[in-house]
Formats: sequence, structure tokens, C-alpha cells
Amino acid sequence: MSQKHCVVTGGAGFIGSHLVERLLADGHRVTVIDNFSTGRPENLEHLKGSKQLKLVQADTNDRAAIAPLFKGAQWVFHIAALADIVPSIERPDDYFRANVSGTESVLEAARAARVSRFVYAASSSCYGIPDKFPTPETAAIRPQYPYALTKRLGEELVLHWGQVYGMPVVSTRFFNVYGPRSRTSGTYGAVFGVFLAQKLANKPYTVVGDGKQTRDFTFVSDVADALVSAAGSTVSGEVFNVGSGSTYSINRLVELLGGPVIHIPKRPGEPDCTFADTAKIRKALGWKPKVSFEDGVEKMLANIDYWRKAPVWTPQSIEQATKTWFEFLEPAKTA
Ligand code: UDP
Repeated sequence: MSQKHCVVTGGAGFIGSHLVERLLADGHRVTVIDNFSTGRPENLEHLKGSKQLKLVQADTNDRAAIAPLFKGAQWVFHIAALADIVPSIERPDDYFRANVSGTESVLEAARAARVSRFVYAASSSCYGIPDKFPTPETAAIRPQYPYALTKRLGEELVLHWGQVYGMPVVSTRFFNVYGPRSRTSGTYGAVFGVFLAQKLANKPYTVVGDGKQTRDFTFVSDVADALVSAAGSTVSGEVFNVGSGSTYSINRLVELLGGPVIHIPKRPGEPDCTFADTAKIRKALGWKPKVSFEDGVEKMLANIDYWRKAPVWTPQSIEQATKTWFEFLEPAKTA
């Protein structure tokens, strides 16, 4: 494939940095836009020597700063966003600004530059607690908390820009992405970071409920591959699930990691299962996941040192950190 000039927003984050790695390996030129609010320059440290990589610290809402960076760009990957449930409940303004206004700003910068592809990183959290497993893209949209809502609103903006302005857009809905460099900010979230830090500290894994709930854990290189497939295709105005092709229990994860467990209360608004129906992306883009759960977990263990700086969560500190979650989402459970 000919060399493309790519813009990756959020390229210094967990998923973004893996995408940047992949694009450079494919011979493309990459401009990363990241405000380093949760992304980290260290995530791109190993790629610093590449002449094809340009790293710019800027906020997606700062149009004057970002617009010139889109000049001559062909592919745009909009990955920049605030993640995590609890802070989204506590600070909805920040989430709206980053995930909704920020998306509109990036869309406008991309439109002015007449880019040839716009790929958006959406979230499977838009399905809330689905009725059907595996869950197809046509399932009802039921965001349960501000993070899920703002990612969904961003997706609507992207599809709307495709519809009104004829921008070639694709939205990819990720299911439980994991892999090396998965974020270890101070906030409580993403089970892998929690469990790996607990393993390093010889503390028990804090298993939610009975651990029988399952997640569609998708390895990050497969996600990067899906993003590149979407950019390289001619499909437009479509939404695609990106999942591993299966779903795995927390107890299975514990079995693979090895070590003692302690149980903590089930959280309100949480699905017992996430499982993507990936028939659409397989058919339309010819994409399929390549990394098995067992191999993925092994890769995490091989990189476990990354989590030495991560906070070690205990049932007490989790109870404290998730107070707002229980306070605001509890009624949703019985609704
Ligand atoms: N989980 C757990 N212990 C933890 C954190 C998470 O057992 O300390 C479980 C949680 O119940 C869920 C899965 O791990 O079934 C994935 O949780 P995460 O917060 O990573 O993602 P999400 O709930 O958004 O799918």
C-alpha cells in the first residue's frame, strides 16, 4: 500500500500508541496529537527515533493548534478521549468536552483538510446491558454512564459528518481492549491493570461478584489491525464491532494469572457478559482477531514490570474509589 500521511489523536495513549507502532511499521507517516492528560510520551519512547513520527502536544478542542496538522493528511484516526466510569460520573463536563466537543473539533479540522478516511474509536459500552449475545451492531443503544454516553455521542457526530458532508467515515466499537501499556493512571479501572499490580504485590485479586461474568477481551494489536483495515477500505458510514470472537470469565483470567482471590460486591449497571458479534467486520473488511486469550495473557505476564508503578487496589480502597458508582447507578439496576 502506498504511504499515507496519518493523524492519530490520542496517539500517546494505550490503544493509540499501538496503532502508531503499526502504522510506522507499515511505512506510513504519522502525526500524533495528544494533550498528555492520560496519554504519556513514554508510550512512544521506543518509536522516537523514527523520522516518520511527529508528536505534538495539543488539545483536540484547540482548533488553532490542531488544524494545521491535518494539512496533507489522508487518514485520520480519532482515538483521543477520556476513559473510565467513575470520573465520568463525577466530572461529566470534562467528558463532554473531551469526547463530544473534541470529536466535533477534530471532524471539522479533518473536513477542512479534505482527508480521505476518518476512523473513530467507539466503545461497546454503548450497548449497556444487551439482550442478545453475541451482540450485533444493530442492538439497542443504552449508555449506562456519562463515559458511555459521550463516546456514543462522538460516534453520532462522526456518522453525521459522513452523512452531511460526505466524509468517508467508519466507527469501530471496541470490546474490553487489553495489552502492554494498558493505562495505569491513578483511577480504578480496567481489570488487567488492577490484577497485574496485585500479582506483583502478592495481594489477592479483587474478583467482582462470583467471577463468573464474562468479557470479550480483545488484544490491542488486533484492535490496531482493525483500525488499519477500516482506513484501507472503501466502506463508509458504517459501524463495526471489534471483538476477540469469544468471551472469557474473570475466573478463567484468574486461573491463567494464578494466585489467591478475594471477592468484592457486584457493581450496578454492569453486564454479566460482553461478547461482540464480529460477522459484519469479518465480511466487510476481511478482518479477524489473531491473538488468543491464552497468548494475550502470556504477553501481559511477559510485560508485567510495566505495572510496578501502578496502584495496588484492595477491597477497602476500591470501595472508597467506587462510592459514586454505587450512589448514582444503583437505581439503574432496578429500573
Ligand atoms: N473486575 C474484577 N475485579 C476488579 C475489576 C474488574 O473482577 O477489580 C471484573 C469486572 O466485574 C468485569 C471485568 O473484570 O467483569 C472487566 O472489568 P473492567 O472494569 O476492566 O471493564 P468493564 O466492566 O467496563 O467491561
